[in-house]
Amino acid sequence: MKYPKAVVFDLDYTLWPCWCDVHIELPIKNHRPDEIVDSYGYKLKLYKDVPGIIKELKDNGVTIISASRTPTVHIAKELISHIKIDNIPMKDYFHSSQWGTGSKTRHIKNAAKELGLEKELANGEFILYDDEYRNKDVNSIGCKFVYLRDTDYGLTRELFEKGLKEYN
Ligand SMILES: [Mg+2]
Repeated sequence: MKYPKAVVFDLDYTLWPCWCDVHIELPIKNHRPDEIVDSYGYKLKLYKDVPGIIKELKDNGVTIISASRTPTVHIAKELISHIKIDNIPMKDYFHSSQWGTGSKTRHIKNAAKELGLEKELANGEFILYDDEYRNKDVNSIGCKFVYLRDTDYGLTRELFEKGLKEYN
């Protein structure tokens, strides 16, 4: 099975089980390398299948992009700096991180431009995994959309592979 050129991930309820504008109070610190604790003692780590999926994409040379509409960008940035995958901060796995409220068509177009992948985007070589159906509008710019529907575990291996199958 072939990997796409780029995989785009939403953050809240796709990679981790929280809304960072609602659940997290700064400052945060590491409880363990892969788990943070916030100032109220709330602990957070990635959904169970996520670290393996991100490592697999990295190992296969796939471009990894984050795209978040969170209003609290500074908190999300703290999370991706602190949460580690194999002792590497997850932010270092992302070739581009895109932020801001509004349509993710803008996030993804910006990332493609930044990374010189505009042709690949137009050719349908991007996939977005996201738990919010409204973000399906990225189809209009050539990005495939995988809706993480009715999942208690965010991005699962099953949904990840479903996206790859649709791409192939
Ligand atoms: Mg989300």
